[in-house]
Amino acid sequence: MRLIYQSSLGIVWDQRFTEISFSHPMIRDMSKARVRDFIKLVKEKLSFIEIRPEYATEEDLMTVHTRDYVSLLKESSKIPYIGFLDQGDTVHYPGMFEDILLVLGSSFTSIKYSKFLDYVYIPIGGFHHAIPNKAVGFCPINDVAIAALKLFEKGERVAIVDIDAHHGNGLQFILYDKPILKMNIYAYDGNFFPGTGKIYEIGEGEGKGYNINIPLSLGSTDDIFEKSLEILDLLEVYSPSYILVIAGVDGHKDDQLKSLELTTNSYNLLGLRIRRIKRATNASIIAYGGGGYGPMSSLSMVSFLEGLVGRRTSYEPLTFSKDIGEIKRIEKIISRFKILSDFFS
Ligand SMILES: [Zn+2]
Repeated sequence: MRLIYQSSLGIVWDQRFTEISFSHPMIRDMSKARVRDFIKLVKEKLSFIEIRPEYATEEDLMTVHTRDYVSLLKESSKIPYIGFLDQGDTVHYPGMFEDILLVLGSSFTSIKYSKFLDYVYIPIGGFHHAIPNKAVGFCPINDVAIAALKLFEKGERVAIVDIDAHHGNGLQFILYDKPILKMNIYAYDGNFFPGTGKIYEIGEGEGKGYNINIPLSLGSTDDIFEKSLEILDLLEVYSPSYILVIAGVDGHKDDQLKSLELTTNSYNLLGLRIRRIKRATNASIIAYGGGGYGPMSSLSMVSFLEGLVGRRTSYEPLTFSKDIGEIKRIEKIISRFKILSDFFS
């Protein structure tokens, strides 16, 4: 008889999540629908433990954000209509501040549960663009930076895997000089939002060597993405006690903010890859929903979770690159970063 190891999965869930979105008014409804569809779909496909999130406090926000900015968030939340926190991407709305505290609290609850469960997932979170004094790109706060810093300050060895169509500019900026491993895979051509994420940005001071950027050309396909995931092998050498994974699904080919040509297969492979790392390192794993603004977003999220629990699923045909030079380019970047293996071991 063969025993199959059943992975334990927890999903942080509050019905309020279906009403939370800080995105531009044009795509707010879609981003809410994504979360509503996700919870329905995941209940059909997977068994998991539902975890109620706690609320964070104002003090928690100040781990990363300035006092003035936190006051601005609080005041904006009292304005009885929808407006913008920045130049036209990130909205404020009545009651936004409570939602922010619930979103951030989800990370803290996850940290507690990740000790007892193999994987904890927060469908709404991974706001990697915000900086200490400003909202950026649908992100009023930087929940992952706060969670990472709190763990780091407790002496934990922390790694962040930031997979999303968009470079995690805020996370990189806030943690640039910290020895917290940050691995970014995103679409890049120098113009596509946010336009940051050069290969030679490797961190500074104590954080030097801890910032890894793997830029994918716009239009990159499943085969290129799969190759880029090889950078995650470094985690087995780094051996973190916590891995925070942003599993943004906005690189799907049908996403409204079109950039990459990925399918649900890529997100499933990402989940399987994280599963392999979990088994090798036994790190506590917390994953976030990240970005996703298209009809396939919720299925992409579920595909990722299916990968985490060891299920290979394929809901769409794979996409392949027409340019063989692109795979070689990614291979070269990865082999350059793999010299960090000696540095981390
Ligand atoms: Zn994104």
